[in-house]
Amino acid sequence: MSKKTLIIGAGGVGNVVTFKCAMNSKTFGEITLASRTISKCDSIAKNIKEKLSISINTASIDADSVIQLTKLFNNIKPDIVINVALPYQDLTIMDACIESGIDYLDTANYEHPDTAKFEYKEQWARDKAFKEANIMGLLGSGFDPGVTNVFCAYAQKHYFDEVHTIDILDCNAGDHGYPFATNFNPEINLREVSANGRYWKSGEWIETKPMEIMQVWDYPEIGKKDSYLLYHEEMESLVKHIKGLKRIRFFMTFGESYLTHMRCLENVGMLGIKEVEHKGMKIAPMEFLSTLLPDPASLGARTKGKTNIGIYAKGIKDGKERTIYIYQVSDHEKCYEEVMSQAVSYTTGVPAMIGAKLILEEKWKRDGVFNMEEFDPDPFMKELMVQGLPWKIIKKT
Ligand code: NDP
Repeated sequence: MSKKTLIIGAGGVGNVVTFKCAMNSKTFGEITLASRTISKCDSIAKNIKEKLSISINTASIDADSVIQLTKLFNNIKPDIVINVALPYQDLTIMDACIESGIDYLDTANYEHPDTAKFEYKEQWARDKAFKEANIMGLLGSGFDPGVTNVFCAYAQKHYFDEVHTIDILDCNAGDHGYPFATNFNPEINLREVSANGRYWKSGEWIETKPMEIMQVWDYPEIGKKDSYLLYHEEMESLVKHIKGLKRIRFFMTFGESYLTHMRCLENVGMLGIKEVEHKGMKIAPMEFLSTLLPDPASLGARTKGKTNIGIYAKGIKDGKERTIYIYQVSDHEKCYEEVMSQAVSYTTGVPAMIGAKLILEEKWKRDGVFNMEEFDPDPFMKELMVQGLPWKIIKKT
């Protein structure tokens, strides 16, 4: 029987997921894209019709409301819901999936709008309800989290008896020509980058000041870049699932202009998430800043350069020390040519589509809530090769 797929969130990532699902329509069947602003869904549907001659349905939804979501799910009866709205909507969409008995996938872990802190606790707590409803929830099926978790699982399965250290390296050397803009949702991006850094060593989390630790890494096809230690959500699940792990860190590159703007904005309070009184109105400075900054979906046409995201793992194989580096390079302009989005949205949207494809094809299928590294990495790694994200391995020792 033909499948039905519902995608929620018509932003930069939603655009890529919808394009890629349409390009794999044999698996995804009838596709509906729903978001808060239906005109954004209609515009994506129009582009897909023009480029691929495939029709997709559109709908308007407030994904903060479980009642509205349940009504929409019961109306469409999708086999899977792909959540690429914002992390604030994860729990409502998961609850509506439990209510309607539908498989769920997202790309970012839950965050409360009033606290800049993200963790899996509340999503993992829904494992029992997912099991009772005989449905699957796949968490963090983007690039990082997502492909980086699968790279770790692949390293563990094929290259190591024990993985001792992992460094996740995320480099975006793209240039969009603006002095300051973010490549995905500005509010989510700035909350992540301005928070304290954190890494895990010998069973403990060690906290750092924002951008306190910098290391220069040499990224193939890009070159040497200053990379800053950040806390990133995939580390929370990887420390549970990778055997023998002693340390895990996450590094991301930032240009000088980005960092200078961010420091200034922070110094004047523009990154605040608590509401302030302004001329009799209440506004959250970060939300207002988000309104002023370029829409990430609009960066596609003007971004040039490459991204390189990967993992650098050290450990033991057959009693000997081994180091490997698995990475993927994407080109912003090539991504735009294919699906009208820059590489940051592309590298998130393609893995979201692949995760959903593996669920629909029952290659990854279990009842409950899971992180990516809990499944066999091989079918995912194979799909990356053919769906636009080819990867490479360098074996150092
Ligand atoms: P955008 O801001 O471009 O898009 C988000 C979309 O969600 C918008 O279209 C917005 O609608 C919609 N939306 C927001 N709130 C609601 C709501 N209450 N109901 C319905 N729709 C809503 O973000 P991105 O596309 O850049 O990012 C999407 C997700 O991908 C985020 O969760 C982000 O954290 C994640 N991400 C994950 C990465 C990874 O590698 N794992 C990397 C990059 C992003 P409207 O426009 O009407 O407000």
